[in-house]
Amino acid sequence: MILPKSSHLNPEQLAEVTAIVTEFGCKIQPIIGAVRTIYAIVGDERDELMINRIEGLDYIDRIDRIQSPFKLMDVRSDLANGRLTIGGVTLGEDLFVIAGQCTIDPKNPGYFYETAAAMKEAGAHVLRGGVWKPRTNPYTFQGDNKSLDILMEASRRTGLPVDTEVMEEEHVKLAIDAGVQVLQVGARNALNYSLLRAIGRAIGNRPQVSVLLKRSIHMGPLNEFISAAEYIAAFGNPNIMLCPRGTTPTLDGYRNHPDESITPLLKEKTWAAVVVDPSHSVGKASYVPSAALAAVAYGADGLCIESHIDPTKGIGDDPRQSITPDVLKKLICQAREFWRLRRA
Ligand code: PEP
Ligand code: MN
Repeated sequence: MILPKSSHLNPEQLAEVTAIVTEFGCKIQPIIGAVRTIYAIVGDERDELMINRIEGLDYIDRIDRIQSPFKLMDVRSDLANGRLTIGGVTLGEDLFVIAGQCTIDPKNPGYFYETAAAMKEAGAHVLRGGVWKPRTNPYTFQGDNKSLDILMEASRRTGLPVDTEVMEEEHVKLAIDAGVQVLQVGARNALNYSLLRAIGRAIGNRPQVSVLLKRSIHMGPLNEFISAAEYIAAFGNPNIMLCPRGTTPTLDGYRNHPDESITPLLKEKTWAAVVVDPSHSVGKASYVPSAALAAVAYGADGLCIESHIDPTKGIGDDPRQSITPDVLKKLICQAREFWRLRRA
């Protein structure tokens, strides 16, 4: 819908706009109101170049788009009929939980194996473990390829599928070849479109590979978040979970600004499962349980929680924000109650 700055377009302006939309296979339909005329674009109005050219005209105020900019992720898309099953849970049918360490310590694999067993015992469906870490400070531990072997060994020992963050194409290949089932895209790479494309393409003949896409670290608007997912789907992989993980901090005390409340908005626009990460959102272990329960109350399909057998021995975020397995176990029970209440 084209909105001119004045009450209507004069004939020359209308001719110019019509010529542009015609180049893109569309037509203009004026909608004449008592005080203002607006102009519908009839046809596929999603072409960015067409929109940019019209919005660049100095007599145009703006274009309001009616069609969704993300055709695959849109709640009305045929993909909405699909269901994602991971670790024995079909998302949307039962509360889904990813849990484990922020970071695997390659020098002390024993901690991760103990954590892995404890995650299974607590009721997690997927084991998380950071192999490669996006760190703000280039001098802090950046991860280690050796940790991938530890992650996969923990998967074999527990029978749990695993989730790990990939930051570059090489990681995608290594992770998929090793058998990682959930590729995590971190908040810092959430708008790295070449990585998103690579992840979409990498599914190849492995339909079980899914993606946990975090919300970008700035206050990413919903359309930007869903459009990032659209890249992954458009390049071949529709097994996508959207992960609000807190956004630009606005409160003294929370690591990021909790954003589990965007869950109902996401659900209105897209069919994708929403798996909230309360750990990075609030960034402190003692706040994690209530943030997790809030996420379930808001309609989340699942949770991604950092937990460590002994957080004080952890590296990365673990000492600060990992909850212990016994806290996790209790939290999962309570979250299931919230889940049932929400659906009652
Ligand atoms: C993580 O999951 O450990 C992580 C670094 O998350 P985020 O990308 O949300 O900061
Ligand atoms: Mn972390």
